[in-house]
Amino acid sequence: MEDIVKAVTDAGVIGAGGGGFPAHIKLSARAEYAIANGSECEPLLQSDQMLMSQYPEEVVEGLKLLQKATGASQGILALKEKYQPAIEALSPLVEKEKDIKLHLLGDYYPAGDEVVLVYETTGRRVPEGGIPPQVGAMVNNVETLFNIARAVKGEVLTDKFLTIAGEVHQPKVIKVPIGTRAEQVIEWAGGVKIEAWAVLCGGPNMGELISPSAPVTKTTNALLVLPADHLLVSRRQTELAISLKRAKAACCYCSYCSELCPRYLMGHSLFPHKIMRSINLGIDEHLEVITSAFLCSECGLCESYACPMELSPRIIAREIKSLLSAKGITNPHLRNSFLRERGWEERRVPLERLTARLGIRDYEEKLPVDLKSYSPAEVMVSLDQHTGVPSVPLVKKEDRVKRGELIADIPQGRLGAKYHAPIAGKVKEVTSTSILIKAEG
Ligand code: SF4
Ligand code: SF4
Repeated sequence: MEDIVKAVTDAGVIGAGGGGFPAHIKLSARAEYAIANGSECEPLLQSDQMLMSQYPEEVVEGLKLLQKATGASQGILALKEKYQPAIEALSPLVEKEKDIKLHLLGDYYPAGDEVVLVYETTGRRVPEGGIPPQVGAMVNNVETLFNIARAVKGEVLTDKFLTIAGEVHQPKVIKVPIGTRAEQVIEWAGGVKIEAWAVLCGGPNMGELISPSAPVTKTTNALLVLPADHLLVSRRQTELAISLKRAKAACCYCSYCSELCPRYLMGHSLFPHKIMRSINLGIDEHLEVITSAFLCSECGLCESYACPMELSPRIIAREIKSLLSAKGITNPHLRNSFLRERGWEERRVPLERLTARLGIRDYEEKLPVDLKSYSPAEVMVSLDQHTGVPSVPLVKKEDRVKRGELIADIPQGRLGAKYHAPIAGKVKEVTSTSILIKAEG
């Protein structure tokens, strides 16, 4: 078990989606269920499906290692019923394992939310404000498991699989060195088809706008190039003050946002419509309601699908979380007894309807896979891609580095991750949060 944890720590593996939690910490815990999250529930994304269909051995091996490290007696590989090529690739391998099973999910959003996934696969409910290990489950994304399997074979993490889609000439699933700038990935996808555009990093619901010069990180699962006036772009460009003004003026308290909120439906004390009402008085009144924003996963279903007034409880909840945290206030909602059924099965939102609502139907297609070894002219390796404290640079300006060489380490005794040179080259700049490497030769 220590060998697995050490190999994964040394390889710099972190959660390949979401917050980038260091994988070695999850491997050090105990669990009954080890769950591989292959749901890839955001529309347009396809890199996890590619990994499961083209590298099924590594995905299953990663799940077995997670089981071994955590002592989980049951391994569950959860993916959508519609991912037929992945199911065909994984089934013969899973059939050979007596303690691993496939769990097929319907086509709804957000099937990949950890709280939802644990409920769907085990029937257990993660308490509000809690995490899956509290109910004996350890969830890892399939790319993380792929990276764990590679790490145990001695391979460090230097590349990222992602979907590049939208207004590019050759949308595809691609493998790129970590630290490659988004604009370079866009060029490798044939360039942009339109004049005015913006880049969303991540899925249409949870992704954020980034600068074209921003680097790919260990958690980048997609780059979506969208028209500058697309709904998903303008929604993210709306100033918070305007969002608040709109919430006060236009919210009709219909409560649709609560009725479709996955966390509410799981029985947690989150009522986004009450937050929208209370925010009229600021964050210091109705604290019971205001602090429930901590329970929001920011899945975005309320803004993308539920609200008839095009308001964004997600953005409001995020801002409240940040304001409360700045005041040193933590989540007080930790009830276990409140868990009761609120009609989750009947209210799951079909992905097809969500995709239509998001205005991205034109970009839906089966994407080709491009696993060439691309080599950018430079990479910018951020040292805070993971949950925890930034890593400490081990190189200085003008140093020459080989691909795979350790360039930043975990500060002693802290939560963090190691970083390796994604390309061979010369170090051009080192700051406390990033390392710039220019390719040579
Ligand atoms: S769905 Fe929209 S209008 Fe209805 S309560 Fe929620 S935020 Fe207000
Ligand atoms: S983003 Fe909206 S729907 Fe999703 S958890 Fe938060 S309040 Fe609920």
